[in-house]
Order: sequence, then structure tokens, then C-alpha cells
Amino acid sequence: MDKFAVLRRYFGHTEFRPGQETLIDGILAGRDVLGIMPTGGGKSLCYQIPALLLPGLTLVISPLISLMRDQVAALTGAGLPAAQLNSAQSLEESREVWRGIRSGAYRLIYIAPERLEKPAFLEQMARQEIALVAVDEAHCISQWGQDFRPSYLKILDFVQSLPRRPVVAAFTATATLQVQGDIALRLALQDPVRTVTGFDRPNLYFDVYKPKDKRSTLRRLVAERGDKSGIVYCATRASVEQVCDDLNAAGFSATRYHAGLSEEERRRNQDDFQFDRKLVMVATNAFGMGIDKSNVSYVFHYNMPKNLESYYQEAGRAGRDGEAAECILLYGPGDVSTAKYFIDHNSDNSELDPEAQAELRGREMERLQRMVDYCKTEDCLRGRILDYFGQEHEPGCGNCGNCQGMFQQTDITIPAQMILSCIKRVKDRLGYYVGAALILRILRGSRDKRILELGLEDLSTYGLMKATPRDLLRSYLDCLESKGYVFIDPNYTTLRPTPAAGEVLFRGERVSMLTKLQPKPLLETEPAPLSSQGVDEGLLAALKEQRNKLAQREGVPAYIVFSNATLVDMARKTPRNREELLSVSGVGEVKAQRYGEAFLTVLQAYDQGAEAGEL
Ligand code: ADP
Ligand code: ZN
Repeated sequence: MDKFAVLRRYFGHTEFRPGQETLIDGILAGRDVLGIMPTGGGKSLCYQIPALLLPGLTLVISPLISLMRDQVAALTGAGLPAAQLNSAQSLEESREVWRGIRSGAYRLIYIAPERLEKPAFLEQMARQEIALVAVDEAHCISQWGQDFRPSYLKILDFVQSLPRRPVVAAFTATATLQVQGDIALRLALQDPVRTVTGFDRPNLYFDVYKPKDKRSTLRRLVAERGDKSGIVYCATRASVEQVCDDLNAAGFSATRYHAGLSEEERRRNQDDFQFDRKLVMVATNAFGMGIDKSNVSYVFHYNMPKNLESYYQEAGRAGRDGEAAECILLYGPGDVSTAKYFIDHNSDNSELDPEAQAELRGREMERLQRMVDYCKTEDCLRGRILDYFGQEHEPGCGNCGNCQGMFQQTDITIPAQMILSCIKRVKDRLGYYVGAALILRILRGSRDKRILELGLEDLSTYGLMKATPRDLLRSYLDCLESKGYVFIDPNYTTLRPTPAAGEVLFRGERVSMLTKLQPKPLLETEPAPLSSQGVDEGLLAALKEQRNKLAQREGVPAYIVFSNATLVDMARKTPRNREELLSVSGVGEVKAQRYGEAFLTVLQAYDQGAEAGEL
């Protein structure tokens, strides 16, 4: 069997995605590899296919037990013998797995990195023929990454302790060059084949809203999406609680997830979401690394994350089935200070020495700035993301809020002059620059304590923009910042004019601002999702029903049987026999064997019903 045969027979796919083949070929040729692909890009195939073809066992190191559970279930479902060893197993269960390992029953074993600290495990493994060590979420090895896990540092010792060095394959969705270099160094990769691919997720629609009222906007967004399943990310546990209560009170089916809940409740809520018993998951960023739910139709961010890596990783949990999905960020000015708070209070770094901490903070502030730029840009949002990860792209994607948005141009020269001169007056008076918040309060004529203390209420610009709503004033300032007339120093949060400001103040340069018109509510305009367009809705519903029945019978999540994309393709191709069924994307031989009959029966019944004119 070759890699193409494995791809077809076990995974039911007809072709490789960009990057997969290069990495698989590298591993099969005995080279170490470093694969950088975003979440959902298809990293697992890159080690699962070699695992089947290489002589010997493949050990997969992965950070979360729930993730392993799903992967092992999916592999077993596809007829690929795999198992996991984890600390939650009973002695009997792990004995069973070890028996299987010794008798050569498995191709893949999944473990958490902590297992590498157990001498008994190392001893047993040294007796096995290990062909490949695959390191998932490899950025966890880097202290510069965001999810540093000290036990990842044990991987190198482990590899070196084996009688024969296996191929080492590292995978991550974190693409910064710095982290890539760190991974290669700490795993001592030997001249690895390196690829950065697939960062674009064309089925995801990106947008940023700046709503006056996030709560009501969120309720509207959720309502418009009907019975679709989605995730709402919040920055803090408290806002998870509030948002989840709010949605439930408004009659939606929402559950929640954050690190403050008991393990039992987290598992229960996650399962409720995974098995579609609850439609909306409201969560902190603690949720997601471990889930592989493919039919998530939207990811909303109630707060801005602290960098684009986090944002793209979380947003990328939408649309993993390839269906059209939406990623919408609700941006508010308070989000920046929340993100800064998290950067300043990152207890993960408390063990670093002060110099390293300061360096890390500097990097994090830079990344935060790029995230804020994303929220404020008028350029293609997808383009911004791809730039960040170093992938080439077309100038406009046509599938983001800025590419599709209707913009309106307004001349804001007068308000711009007022703001800039206020900054200047305050500096002249005090001898130093103050923050943006204070400038806005002076312009609006606030009786703020600090203004009175500093005696700023008698400035000529005090109260000059009393009649301008705060949000609008804030937008003016954002515009001045993005056009380079002012600079907000991220460290001291002072607002300074740049030399270009002089052109506006003294030489009559005009300033205009683009504002995005509110998008139409989906309810009025919703087209059917692109990929299921032209497919018989009734047939699709019948196939889904059959899938749910089978999933329930086997006690697995529905997508383990077949993904939505597979069912759509099936409804489109309406196969009449096993051969035709195999041409459906996502149907391999093992699944055809296991589920084929059940689905062919549905297809046939539907066909006859249609002929008899019943439908
Ligand atoms: P990652 O680990 O990179 O987040 P996965 O390996 O879980 O992503 O793959 C994401 C999805 O893409 C899975 O549903 C998988 O079946 C699908 N997939 C992977 N490779 C291919 C391929 N060559 N053709 C079609 N679908 C694929
Ligand atoms: Zn775009």
C-alpha cells in the first residue's frame, strides 16, 4: 500500500492538501519534519499515514486527554488500530493497552507529555520498535510561545534514550519564525523538512463589529443563526458567566466552560456542546484545545484576544467541516486594557528572571498592537491575518467584512483639528503628554477629579466637543491613529502627535474617515451556505437523521460517523452502490463497510419516494 491508497482507504479523501504530501514524503524518507499549518489544516494525517506505512510503532505526544480520546475514537472508527495511555485510565485499562502494544496490535499510541516523566513508561518503551515520534502542538516546547509546557522539554531526553533514534515530526499552528526556531532547537530536529502552508481558511468569513452594546448585539447575532452551533469566547470567567446567563435568559440553549468550574462540570458541558445537546458554548480560552467538533458554524469573540495567534486559533474552530462559517469579533475600547492586564499578570512567567520577563512583555505588547491594528483596519481582514503568518495572498479576499462592507467617507478635518490641538495645549500646560482617555474627557468637558486637580478645565479646548458622542469621538481618534497623525505609546499609554499632525493643524491638510455601514441582519438576507447550495434539503435531513441514529447506537459524536461536508457531498452525488459511495469525500473503505448499507438504504428509499411522487 502507498500513501495514496492509505489516504483513500482509511480516510476517504482523494487528494492531499497543500503541505501534507511534502511532510509525509519527508517522514517516509526518514527525515525529521516541522509542519506549520493552522488548526484544521490537516496536520494529523501527516503522521497518521506514515504511522500505517512505517515498520514499528508511532508515538504521538499531545497535550490534552480529551483531544486524544477523540482522535483515537476517529482512528479506530476508520479501522486504524490506535490507543492512548492516560492518567485517567484504570490499571486494568492501561494493562490492556500495554498487552496490545507488546503484541503489536496498534500502529499509534497517544500519550500526554507528562508520561515521559515516568521511569516505568520509558523502560517499557525502550523495548519497542518506535519508528516515529510525532509531537503535536509543538509550540508548547517554547517559552516564547503562549502555552509553554515544561514536560515537553522531556521529549528530547526520551528520544535520545531510545536504542534507535526514531524520526521526529513536530507540528504546530503557531507560525512565528522565533517559535519555529525554538521548536527545532529544543527537539534537536536534524535538518528538518519545513513547511508553512494552509493558513488560509477560505470558508471562514471574518468581520469586526464595534457595537455600542455588546450584549444586545450578541443576542441578535445568535438569534439570526437559528439552530446553528457556535462558540462565544470571552476574556474572563466573570463575563463567561454573565454572557451565558444572558443567553439562557433570552431563551437560547447555551452552556459554559472555564477553568473555574469543576472538572466534572467542564466535561459535562463540553459533551453537551459536542453532542449538540447545547447549541452555544460560552467559554474562556481554556476551551477548545481539546475539542474536534467539526460543525461549529460560528465563533464570536465577545472580547478581543491579546494577539492574532490566539484569535486565529480560536476563530479557526469554526467551519472545520469545510462549510461556510463566520468569525466575528466584537471590539470595544475596554478590550485593550483587559488584554494589557492579562499580559502584565501572566503568572506563567513568574519563574523567569526580570530581564526575560521584560523581554517577553515587550514582545507581547507588540503582538497586542498587531491585534488592535486588525480591529481597526479598513483593509482586507484575511489579508491582515495571512500577512501575520507570512503567507502570500491576493489583495482582497471578497469574503470578509471589509471586502464586502459598505463604507461611507466623511470629512473629519474640523474634529481632527480640535483633538490635535487639545493634545498640544495639554502638553504646553503640563510639560508632558497624557493618555487618550484623559484627552477625550477634557474634550467632552468632564468634571473628572484629575482634570480639576491639574487645573485643565480652563483650557480653551475644554468642553469643545461636548456635543459629540463618546463612541464617535473615540472613532475619530482611532482614525487619527490609523492614519498616522497620532501615536499611542503602548507602554505608557500616552497619546502623542506625530510630525504629520502639523500638516492638519497648520497647513490645512484634510482628513477623511471611512465608516463601515452596519451589516444587514442575516435573517433578511441569508443565502443558503455556499457548499450545500443546490443540494436536496430533504435528503440531507434524512441522511443526518440516519447519522444521528448510528452515532447514538455507537455512543460516539455524530461527526465521527460522517462530517457534514461528507453528507452534503453524499446528497449531491446520490450514490447507488458501494463503488459510487466510495467516491464521496470522507468515505473510506472501512466506513463504507461499517455504515455504507445504512446510508444506501436511506438514499434508495428517498429515490423511490421521489419517483412515486410522494415528495
Ligand atoms: P489539525 O490537526 O491540523 O488541526 P486535523 O488533522 O484535525 O487538523 O484535520 C482537520 C480536518 O481536515 C479533519 O476533519 C480531516 O478529516 C480533514 N482533512 C485532513 N486532510 C484532508 C485531505 N487531504 N482531504 C480532505 N480532508 C482532509
Ligand atoms: Zn477580505
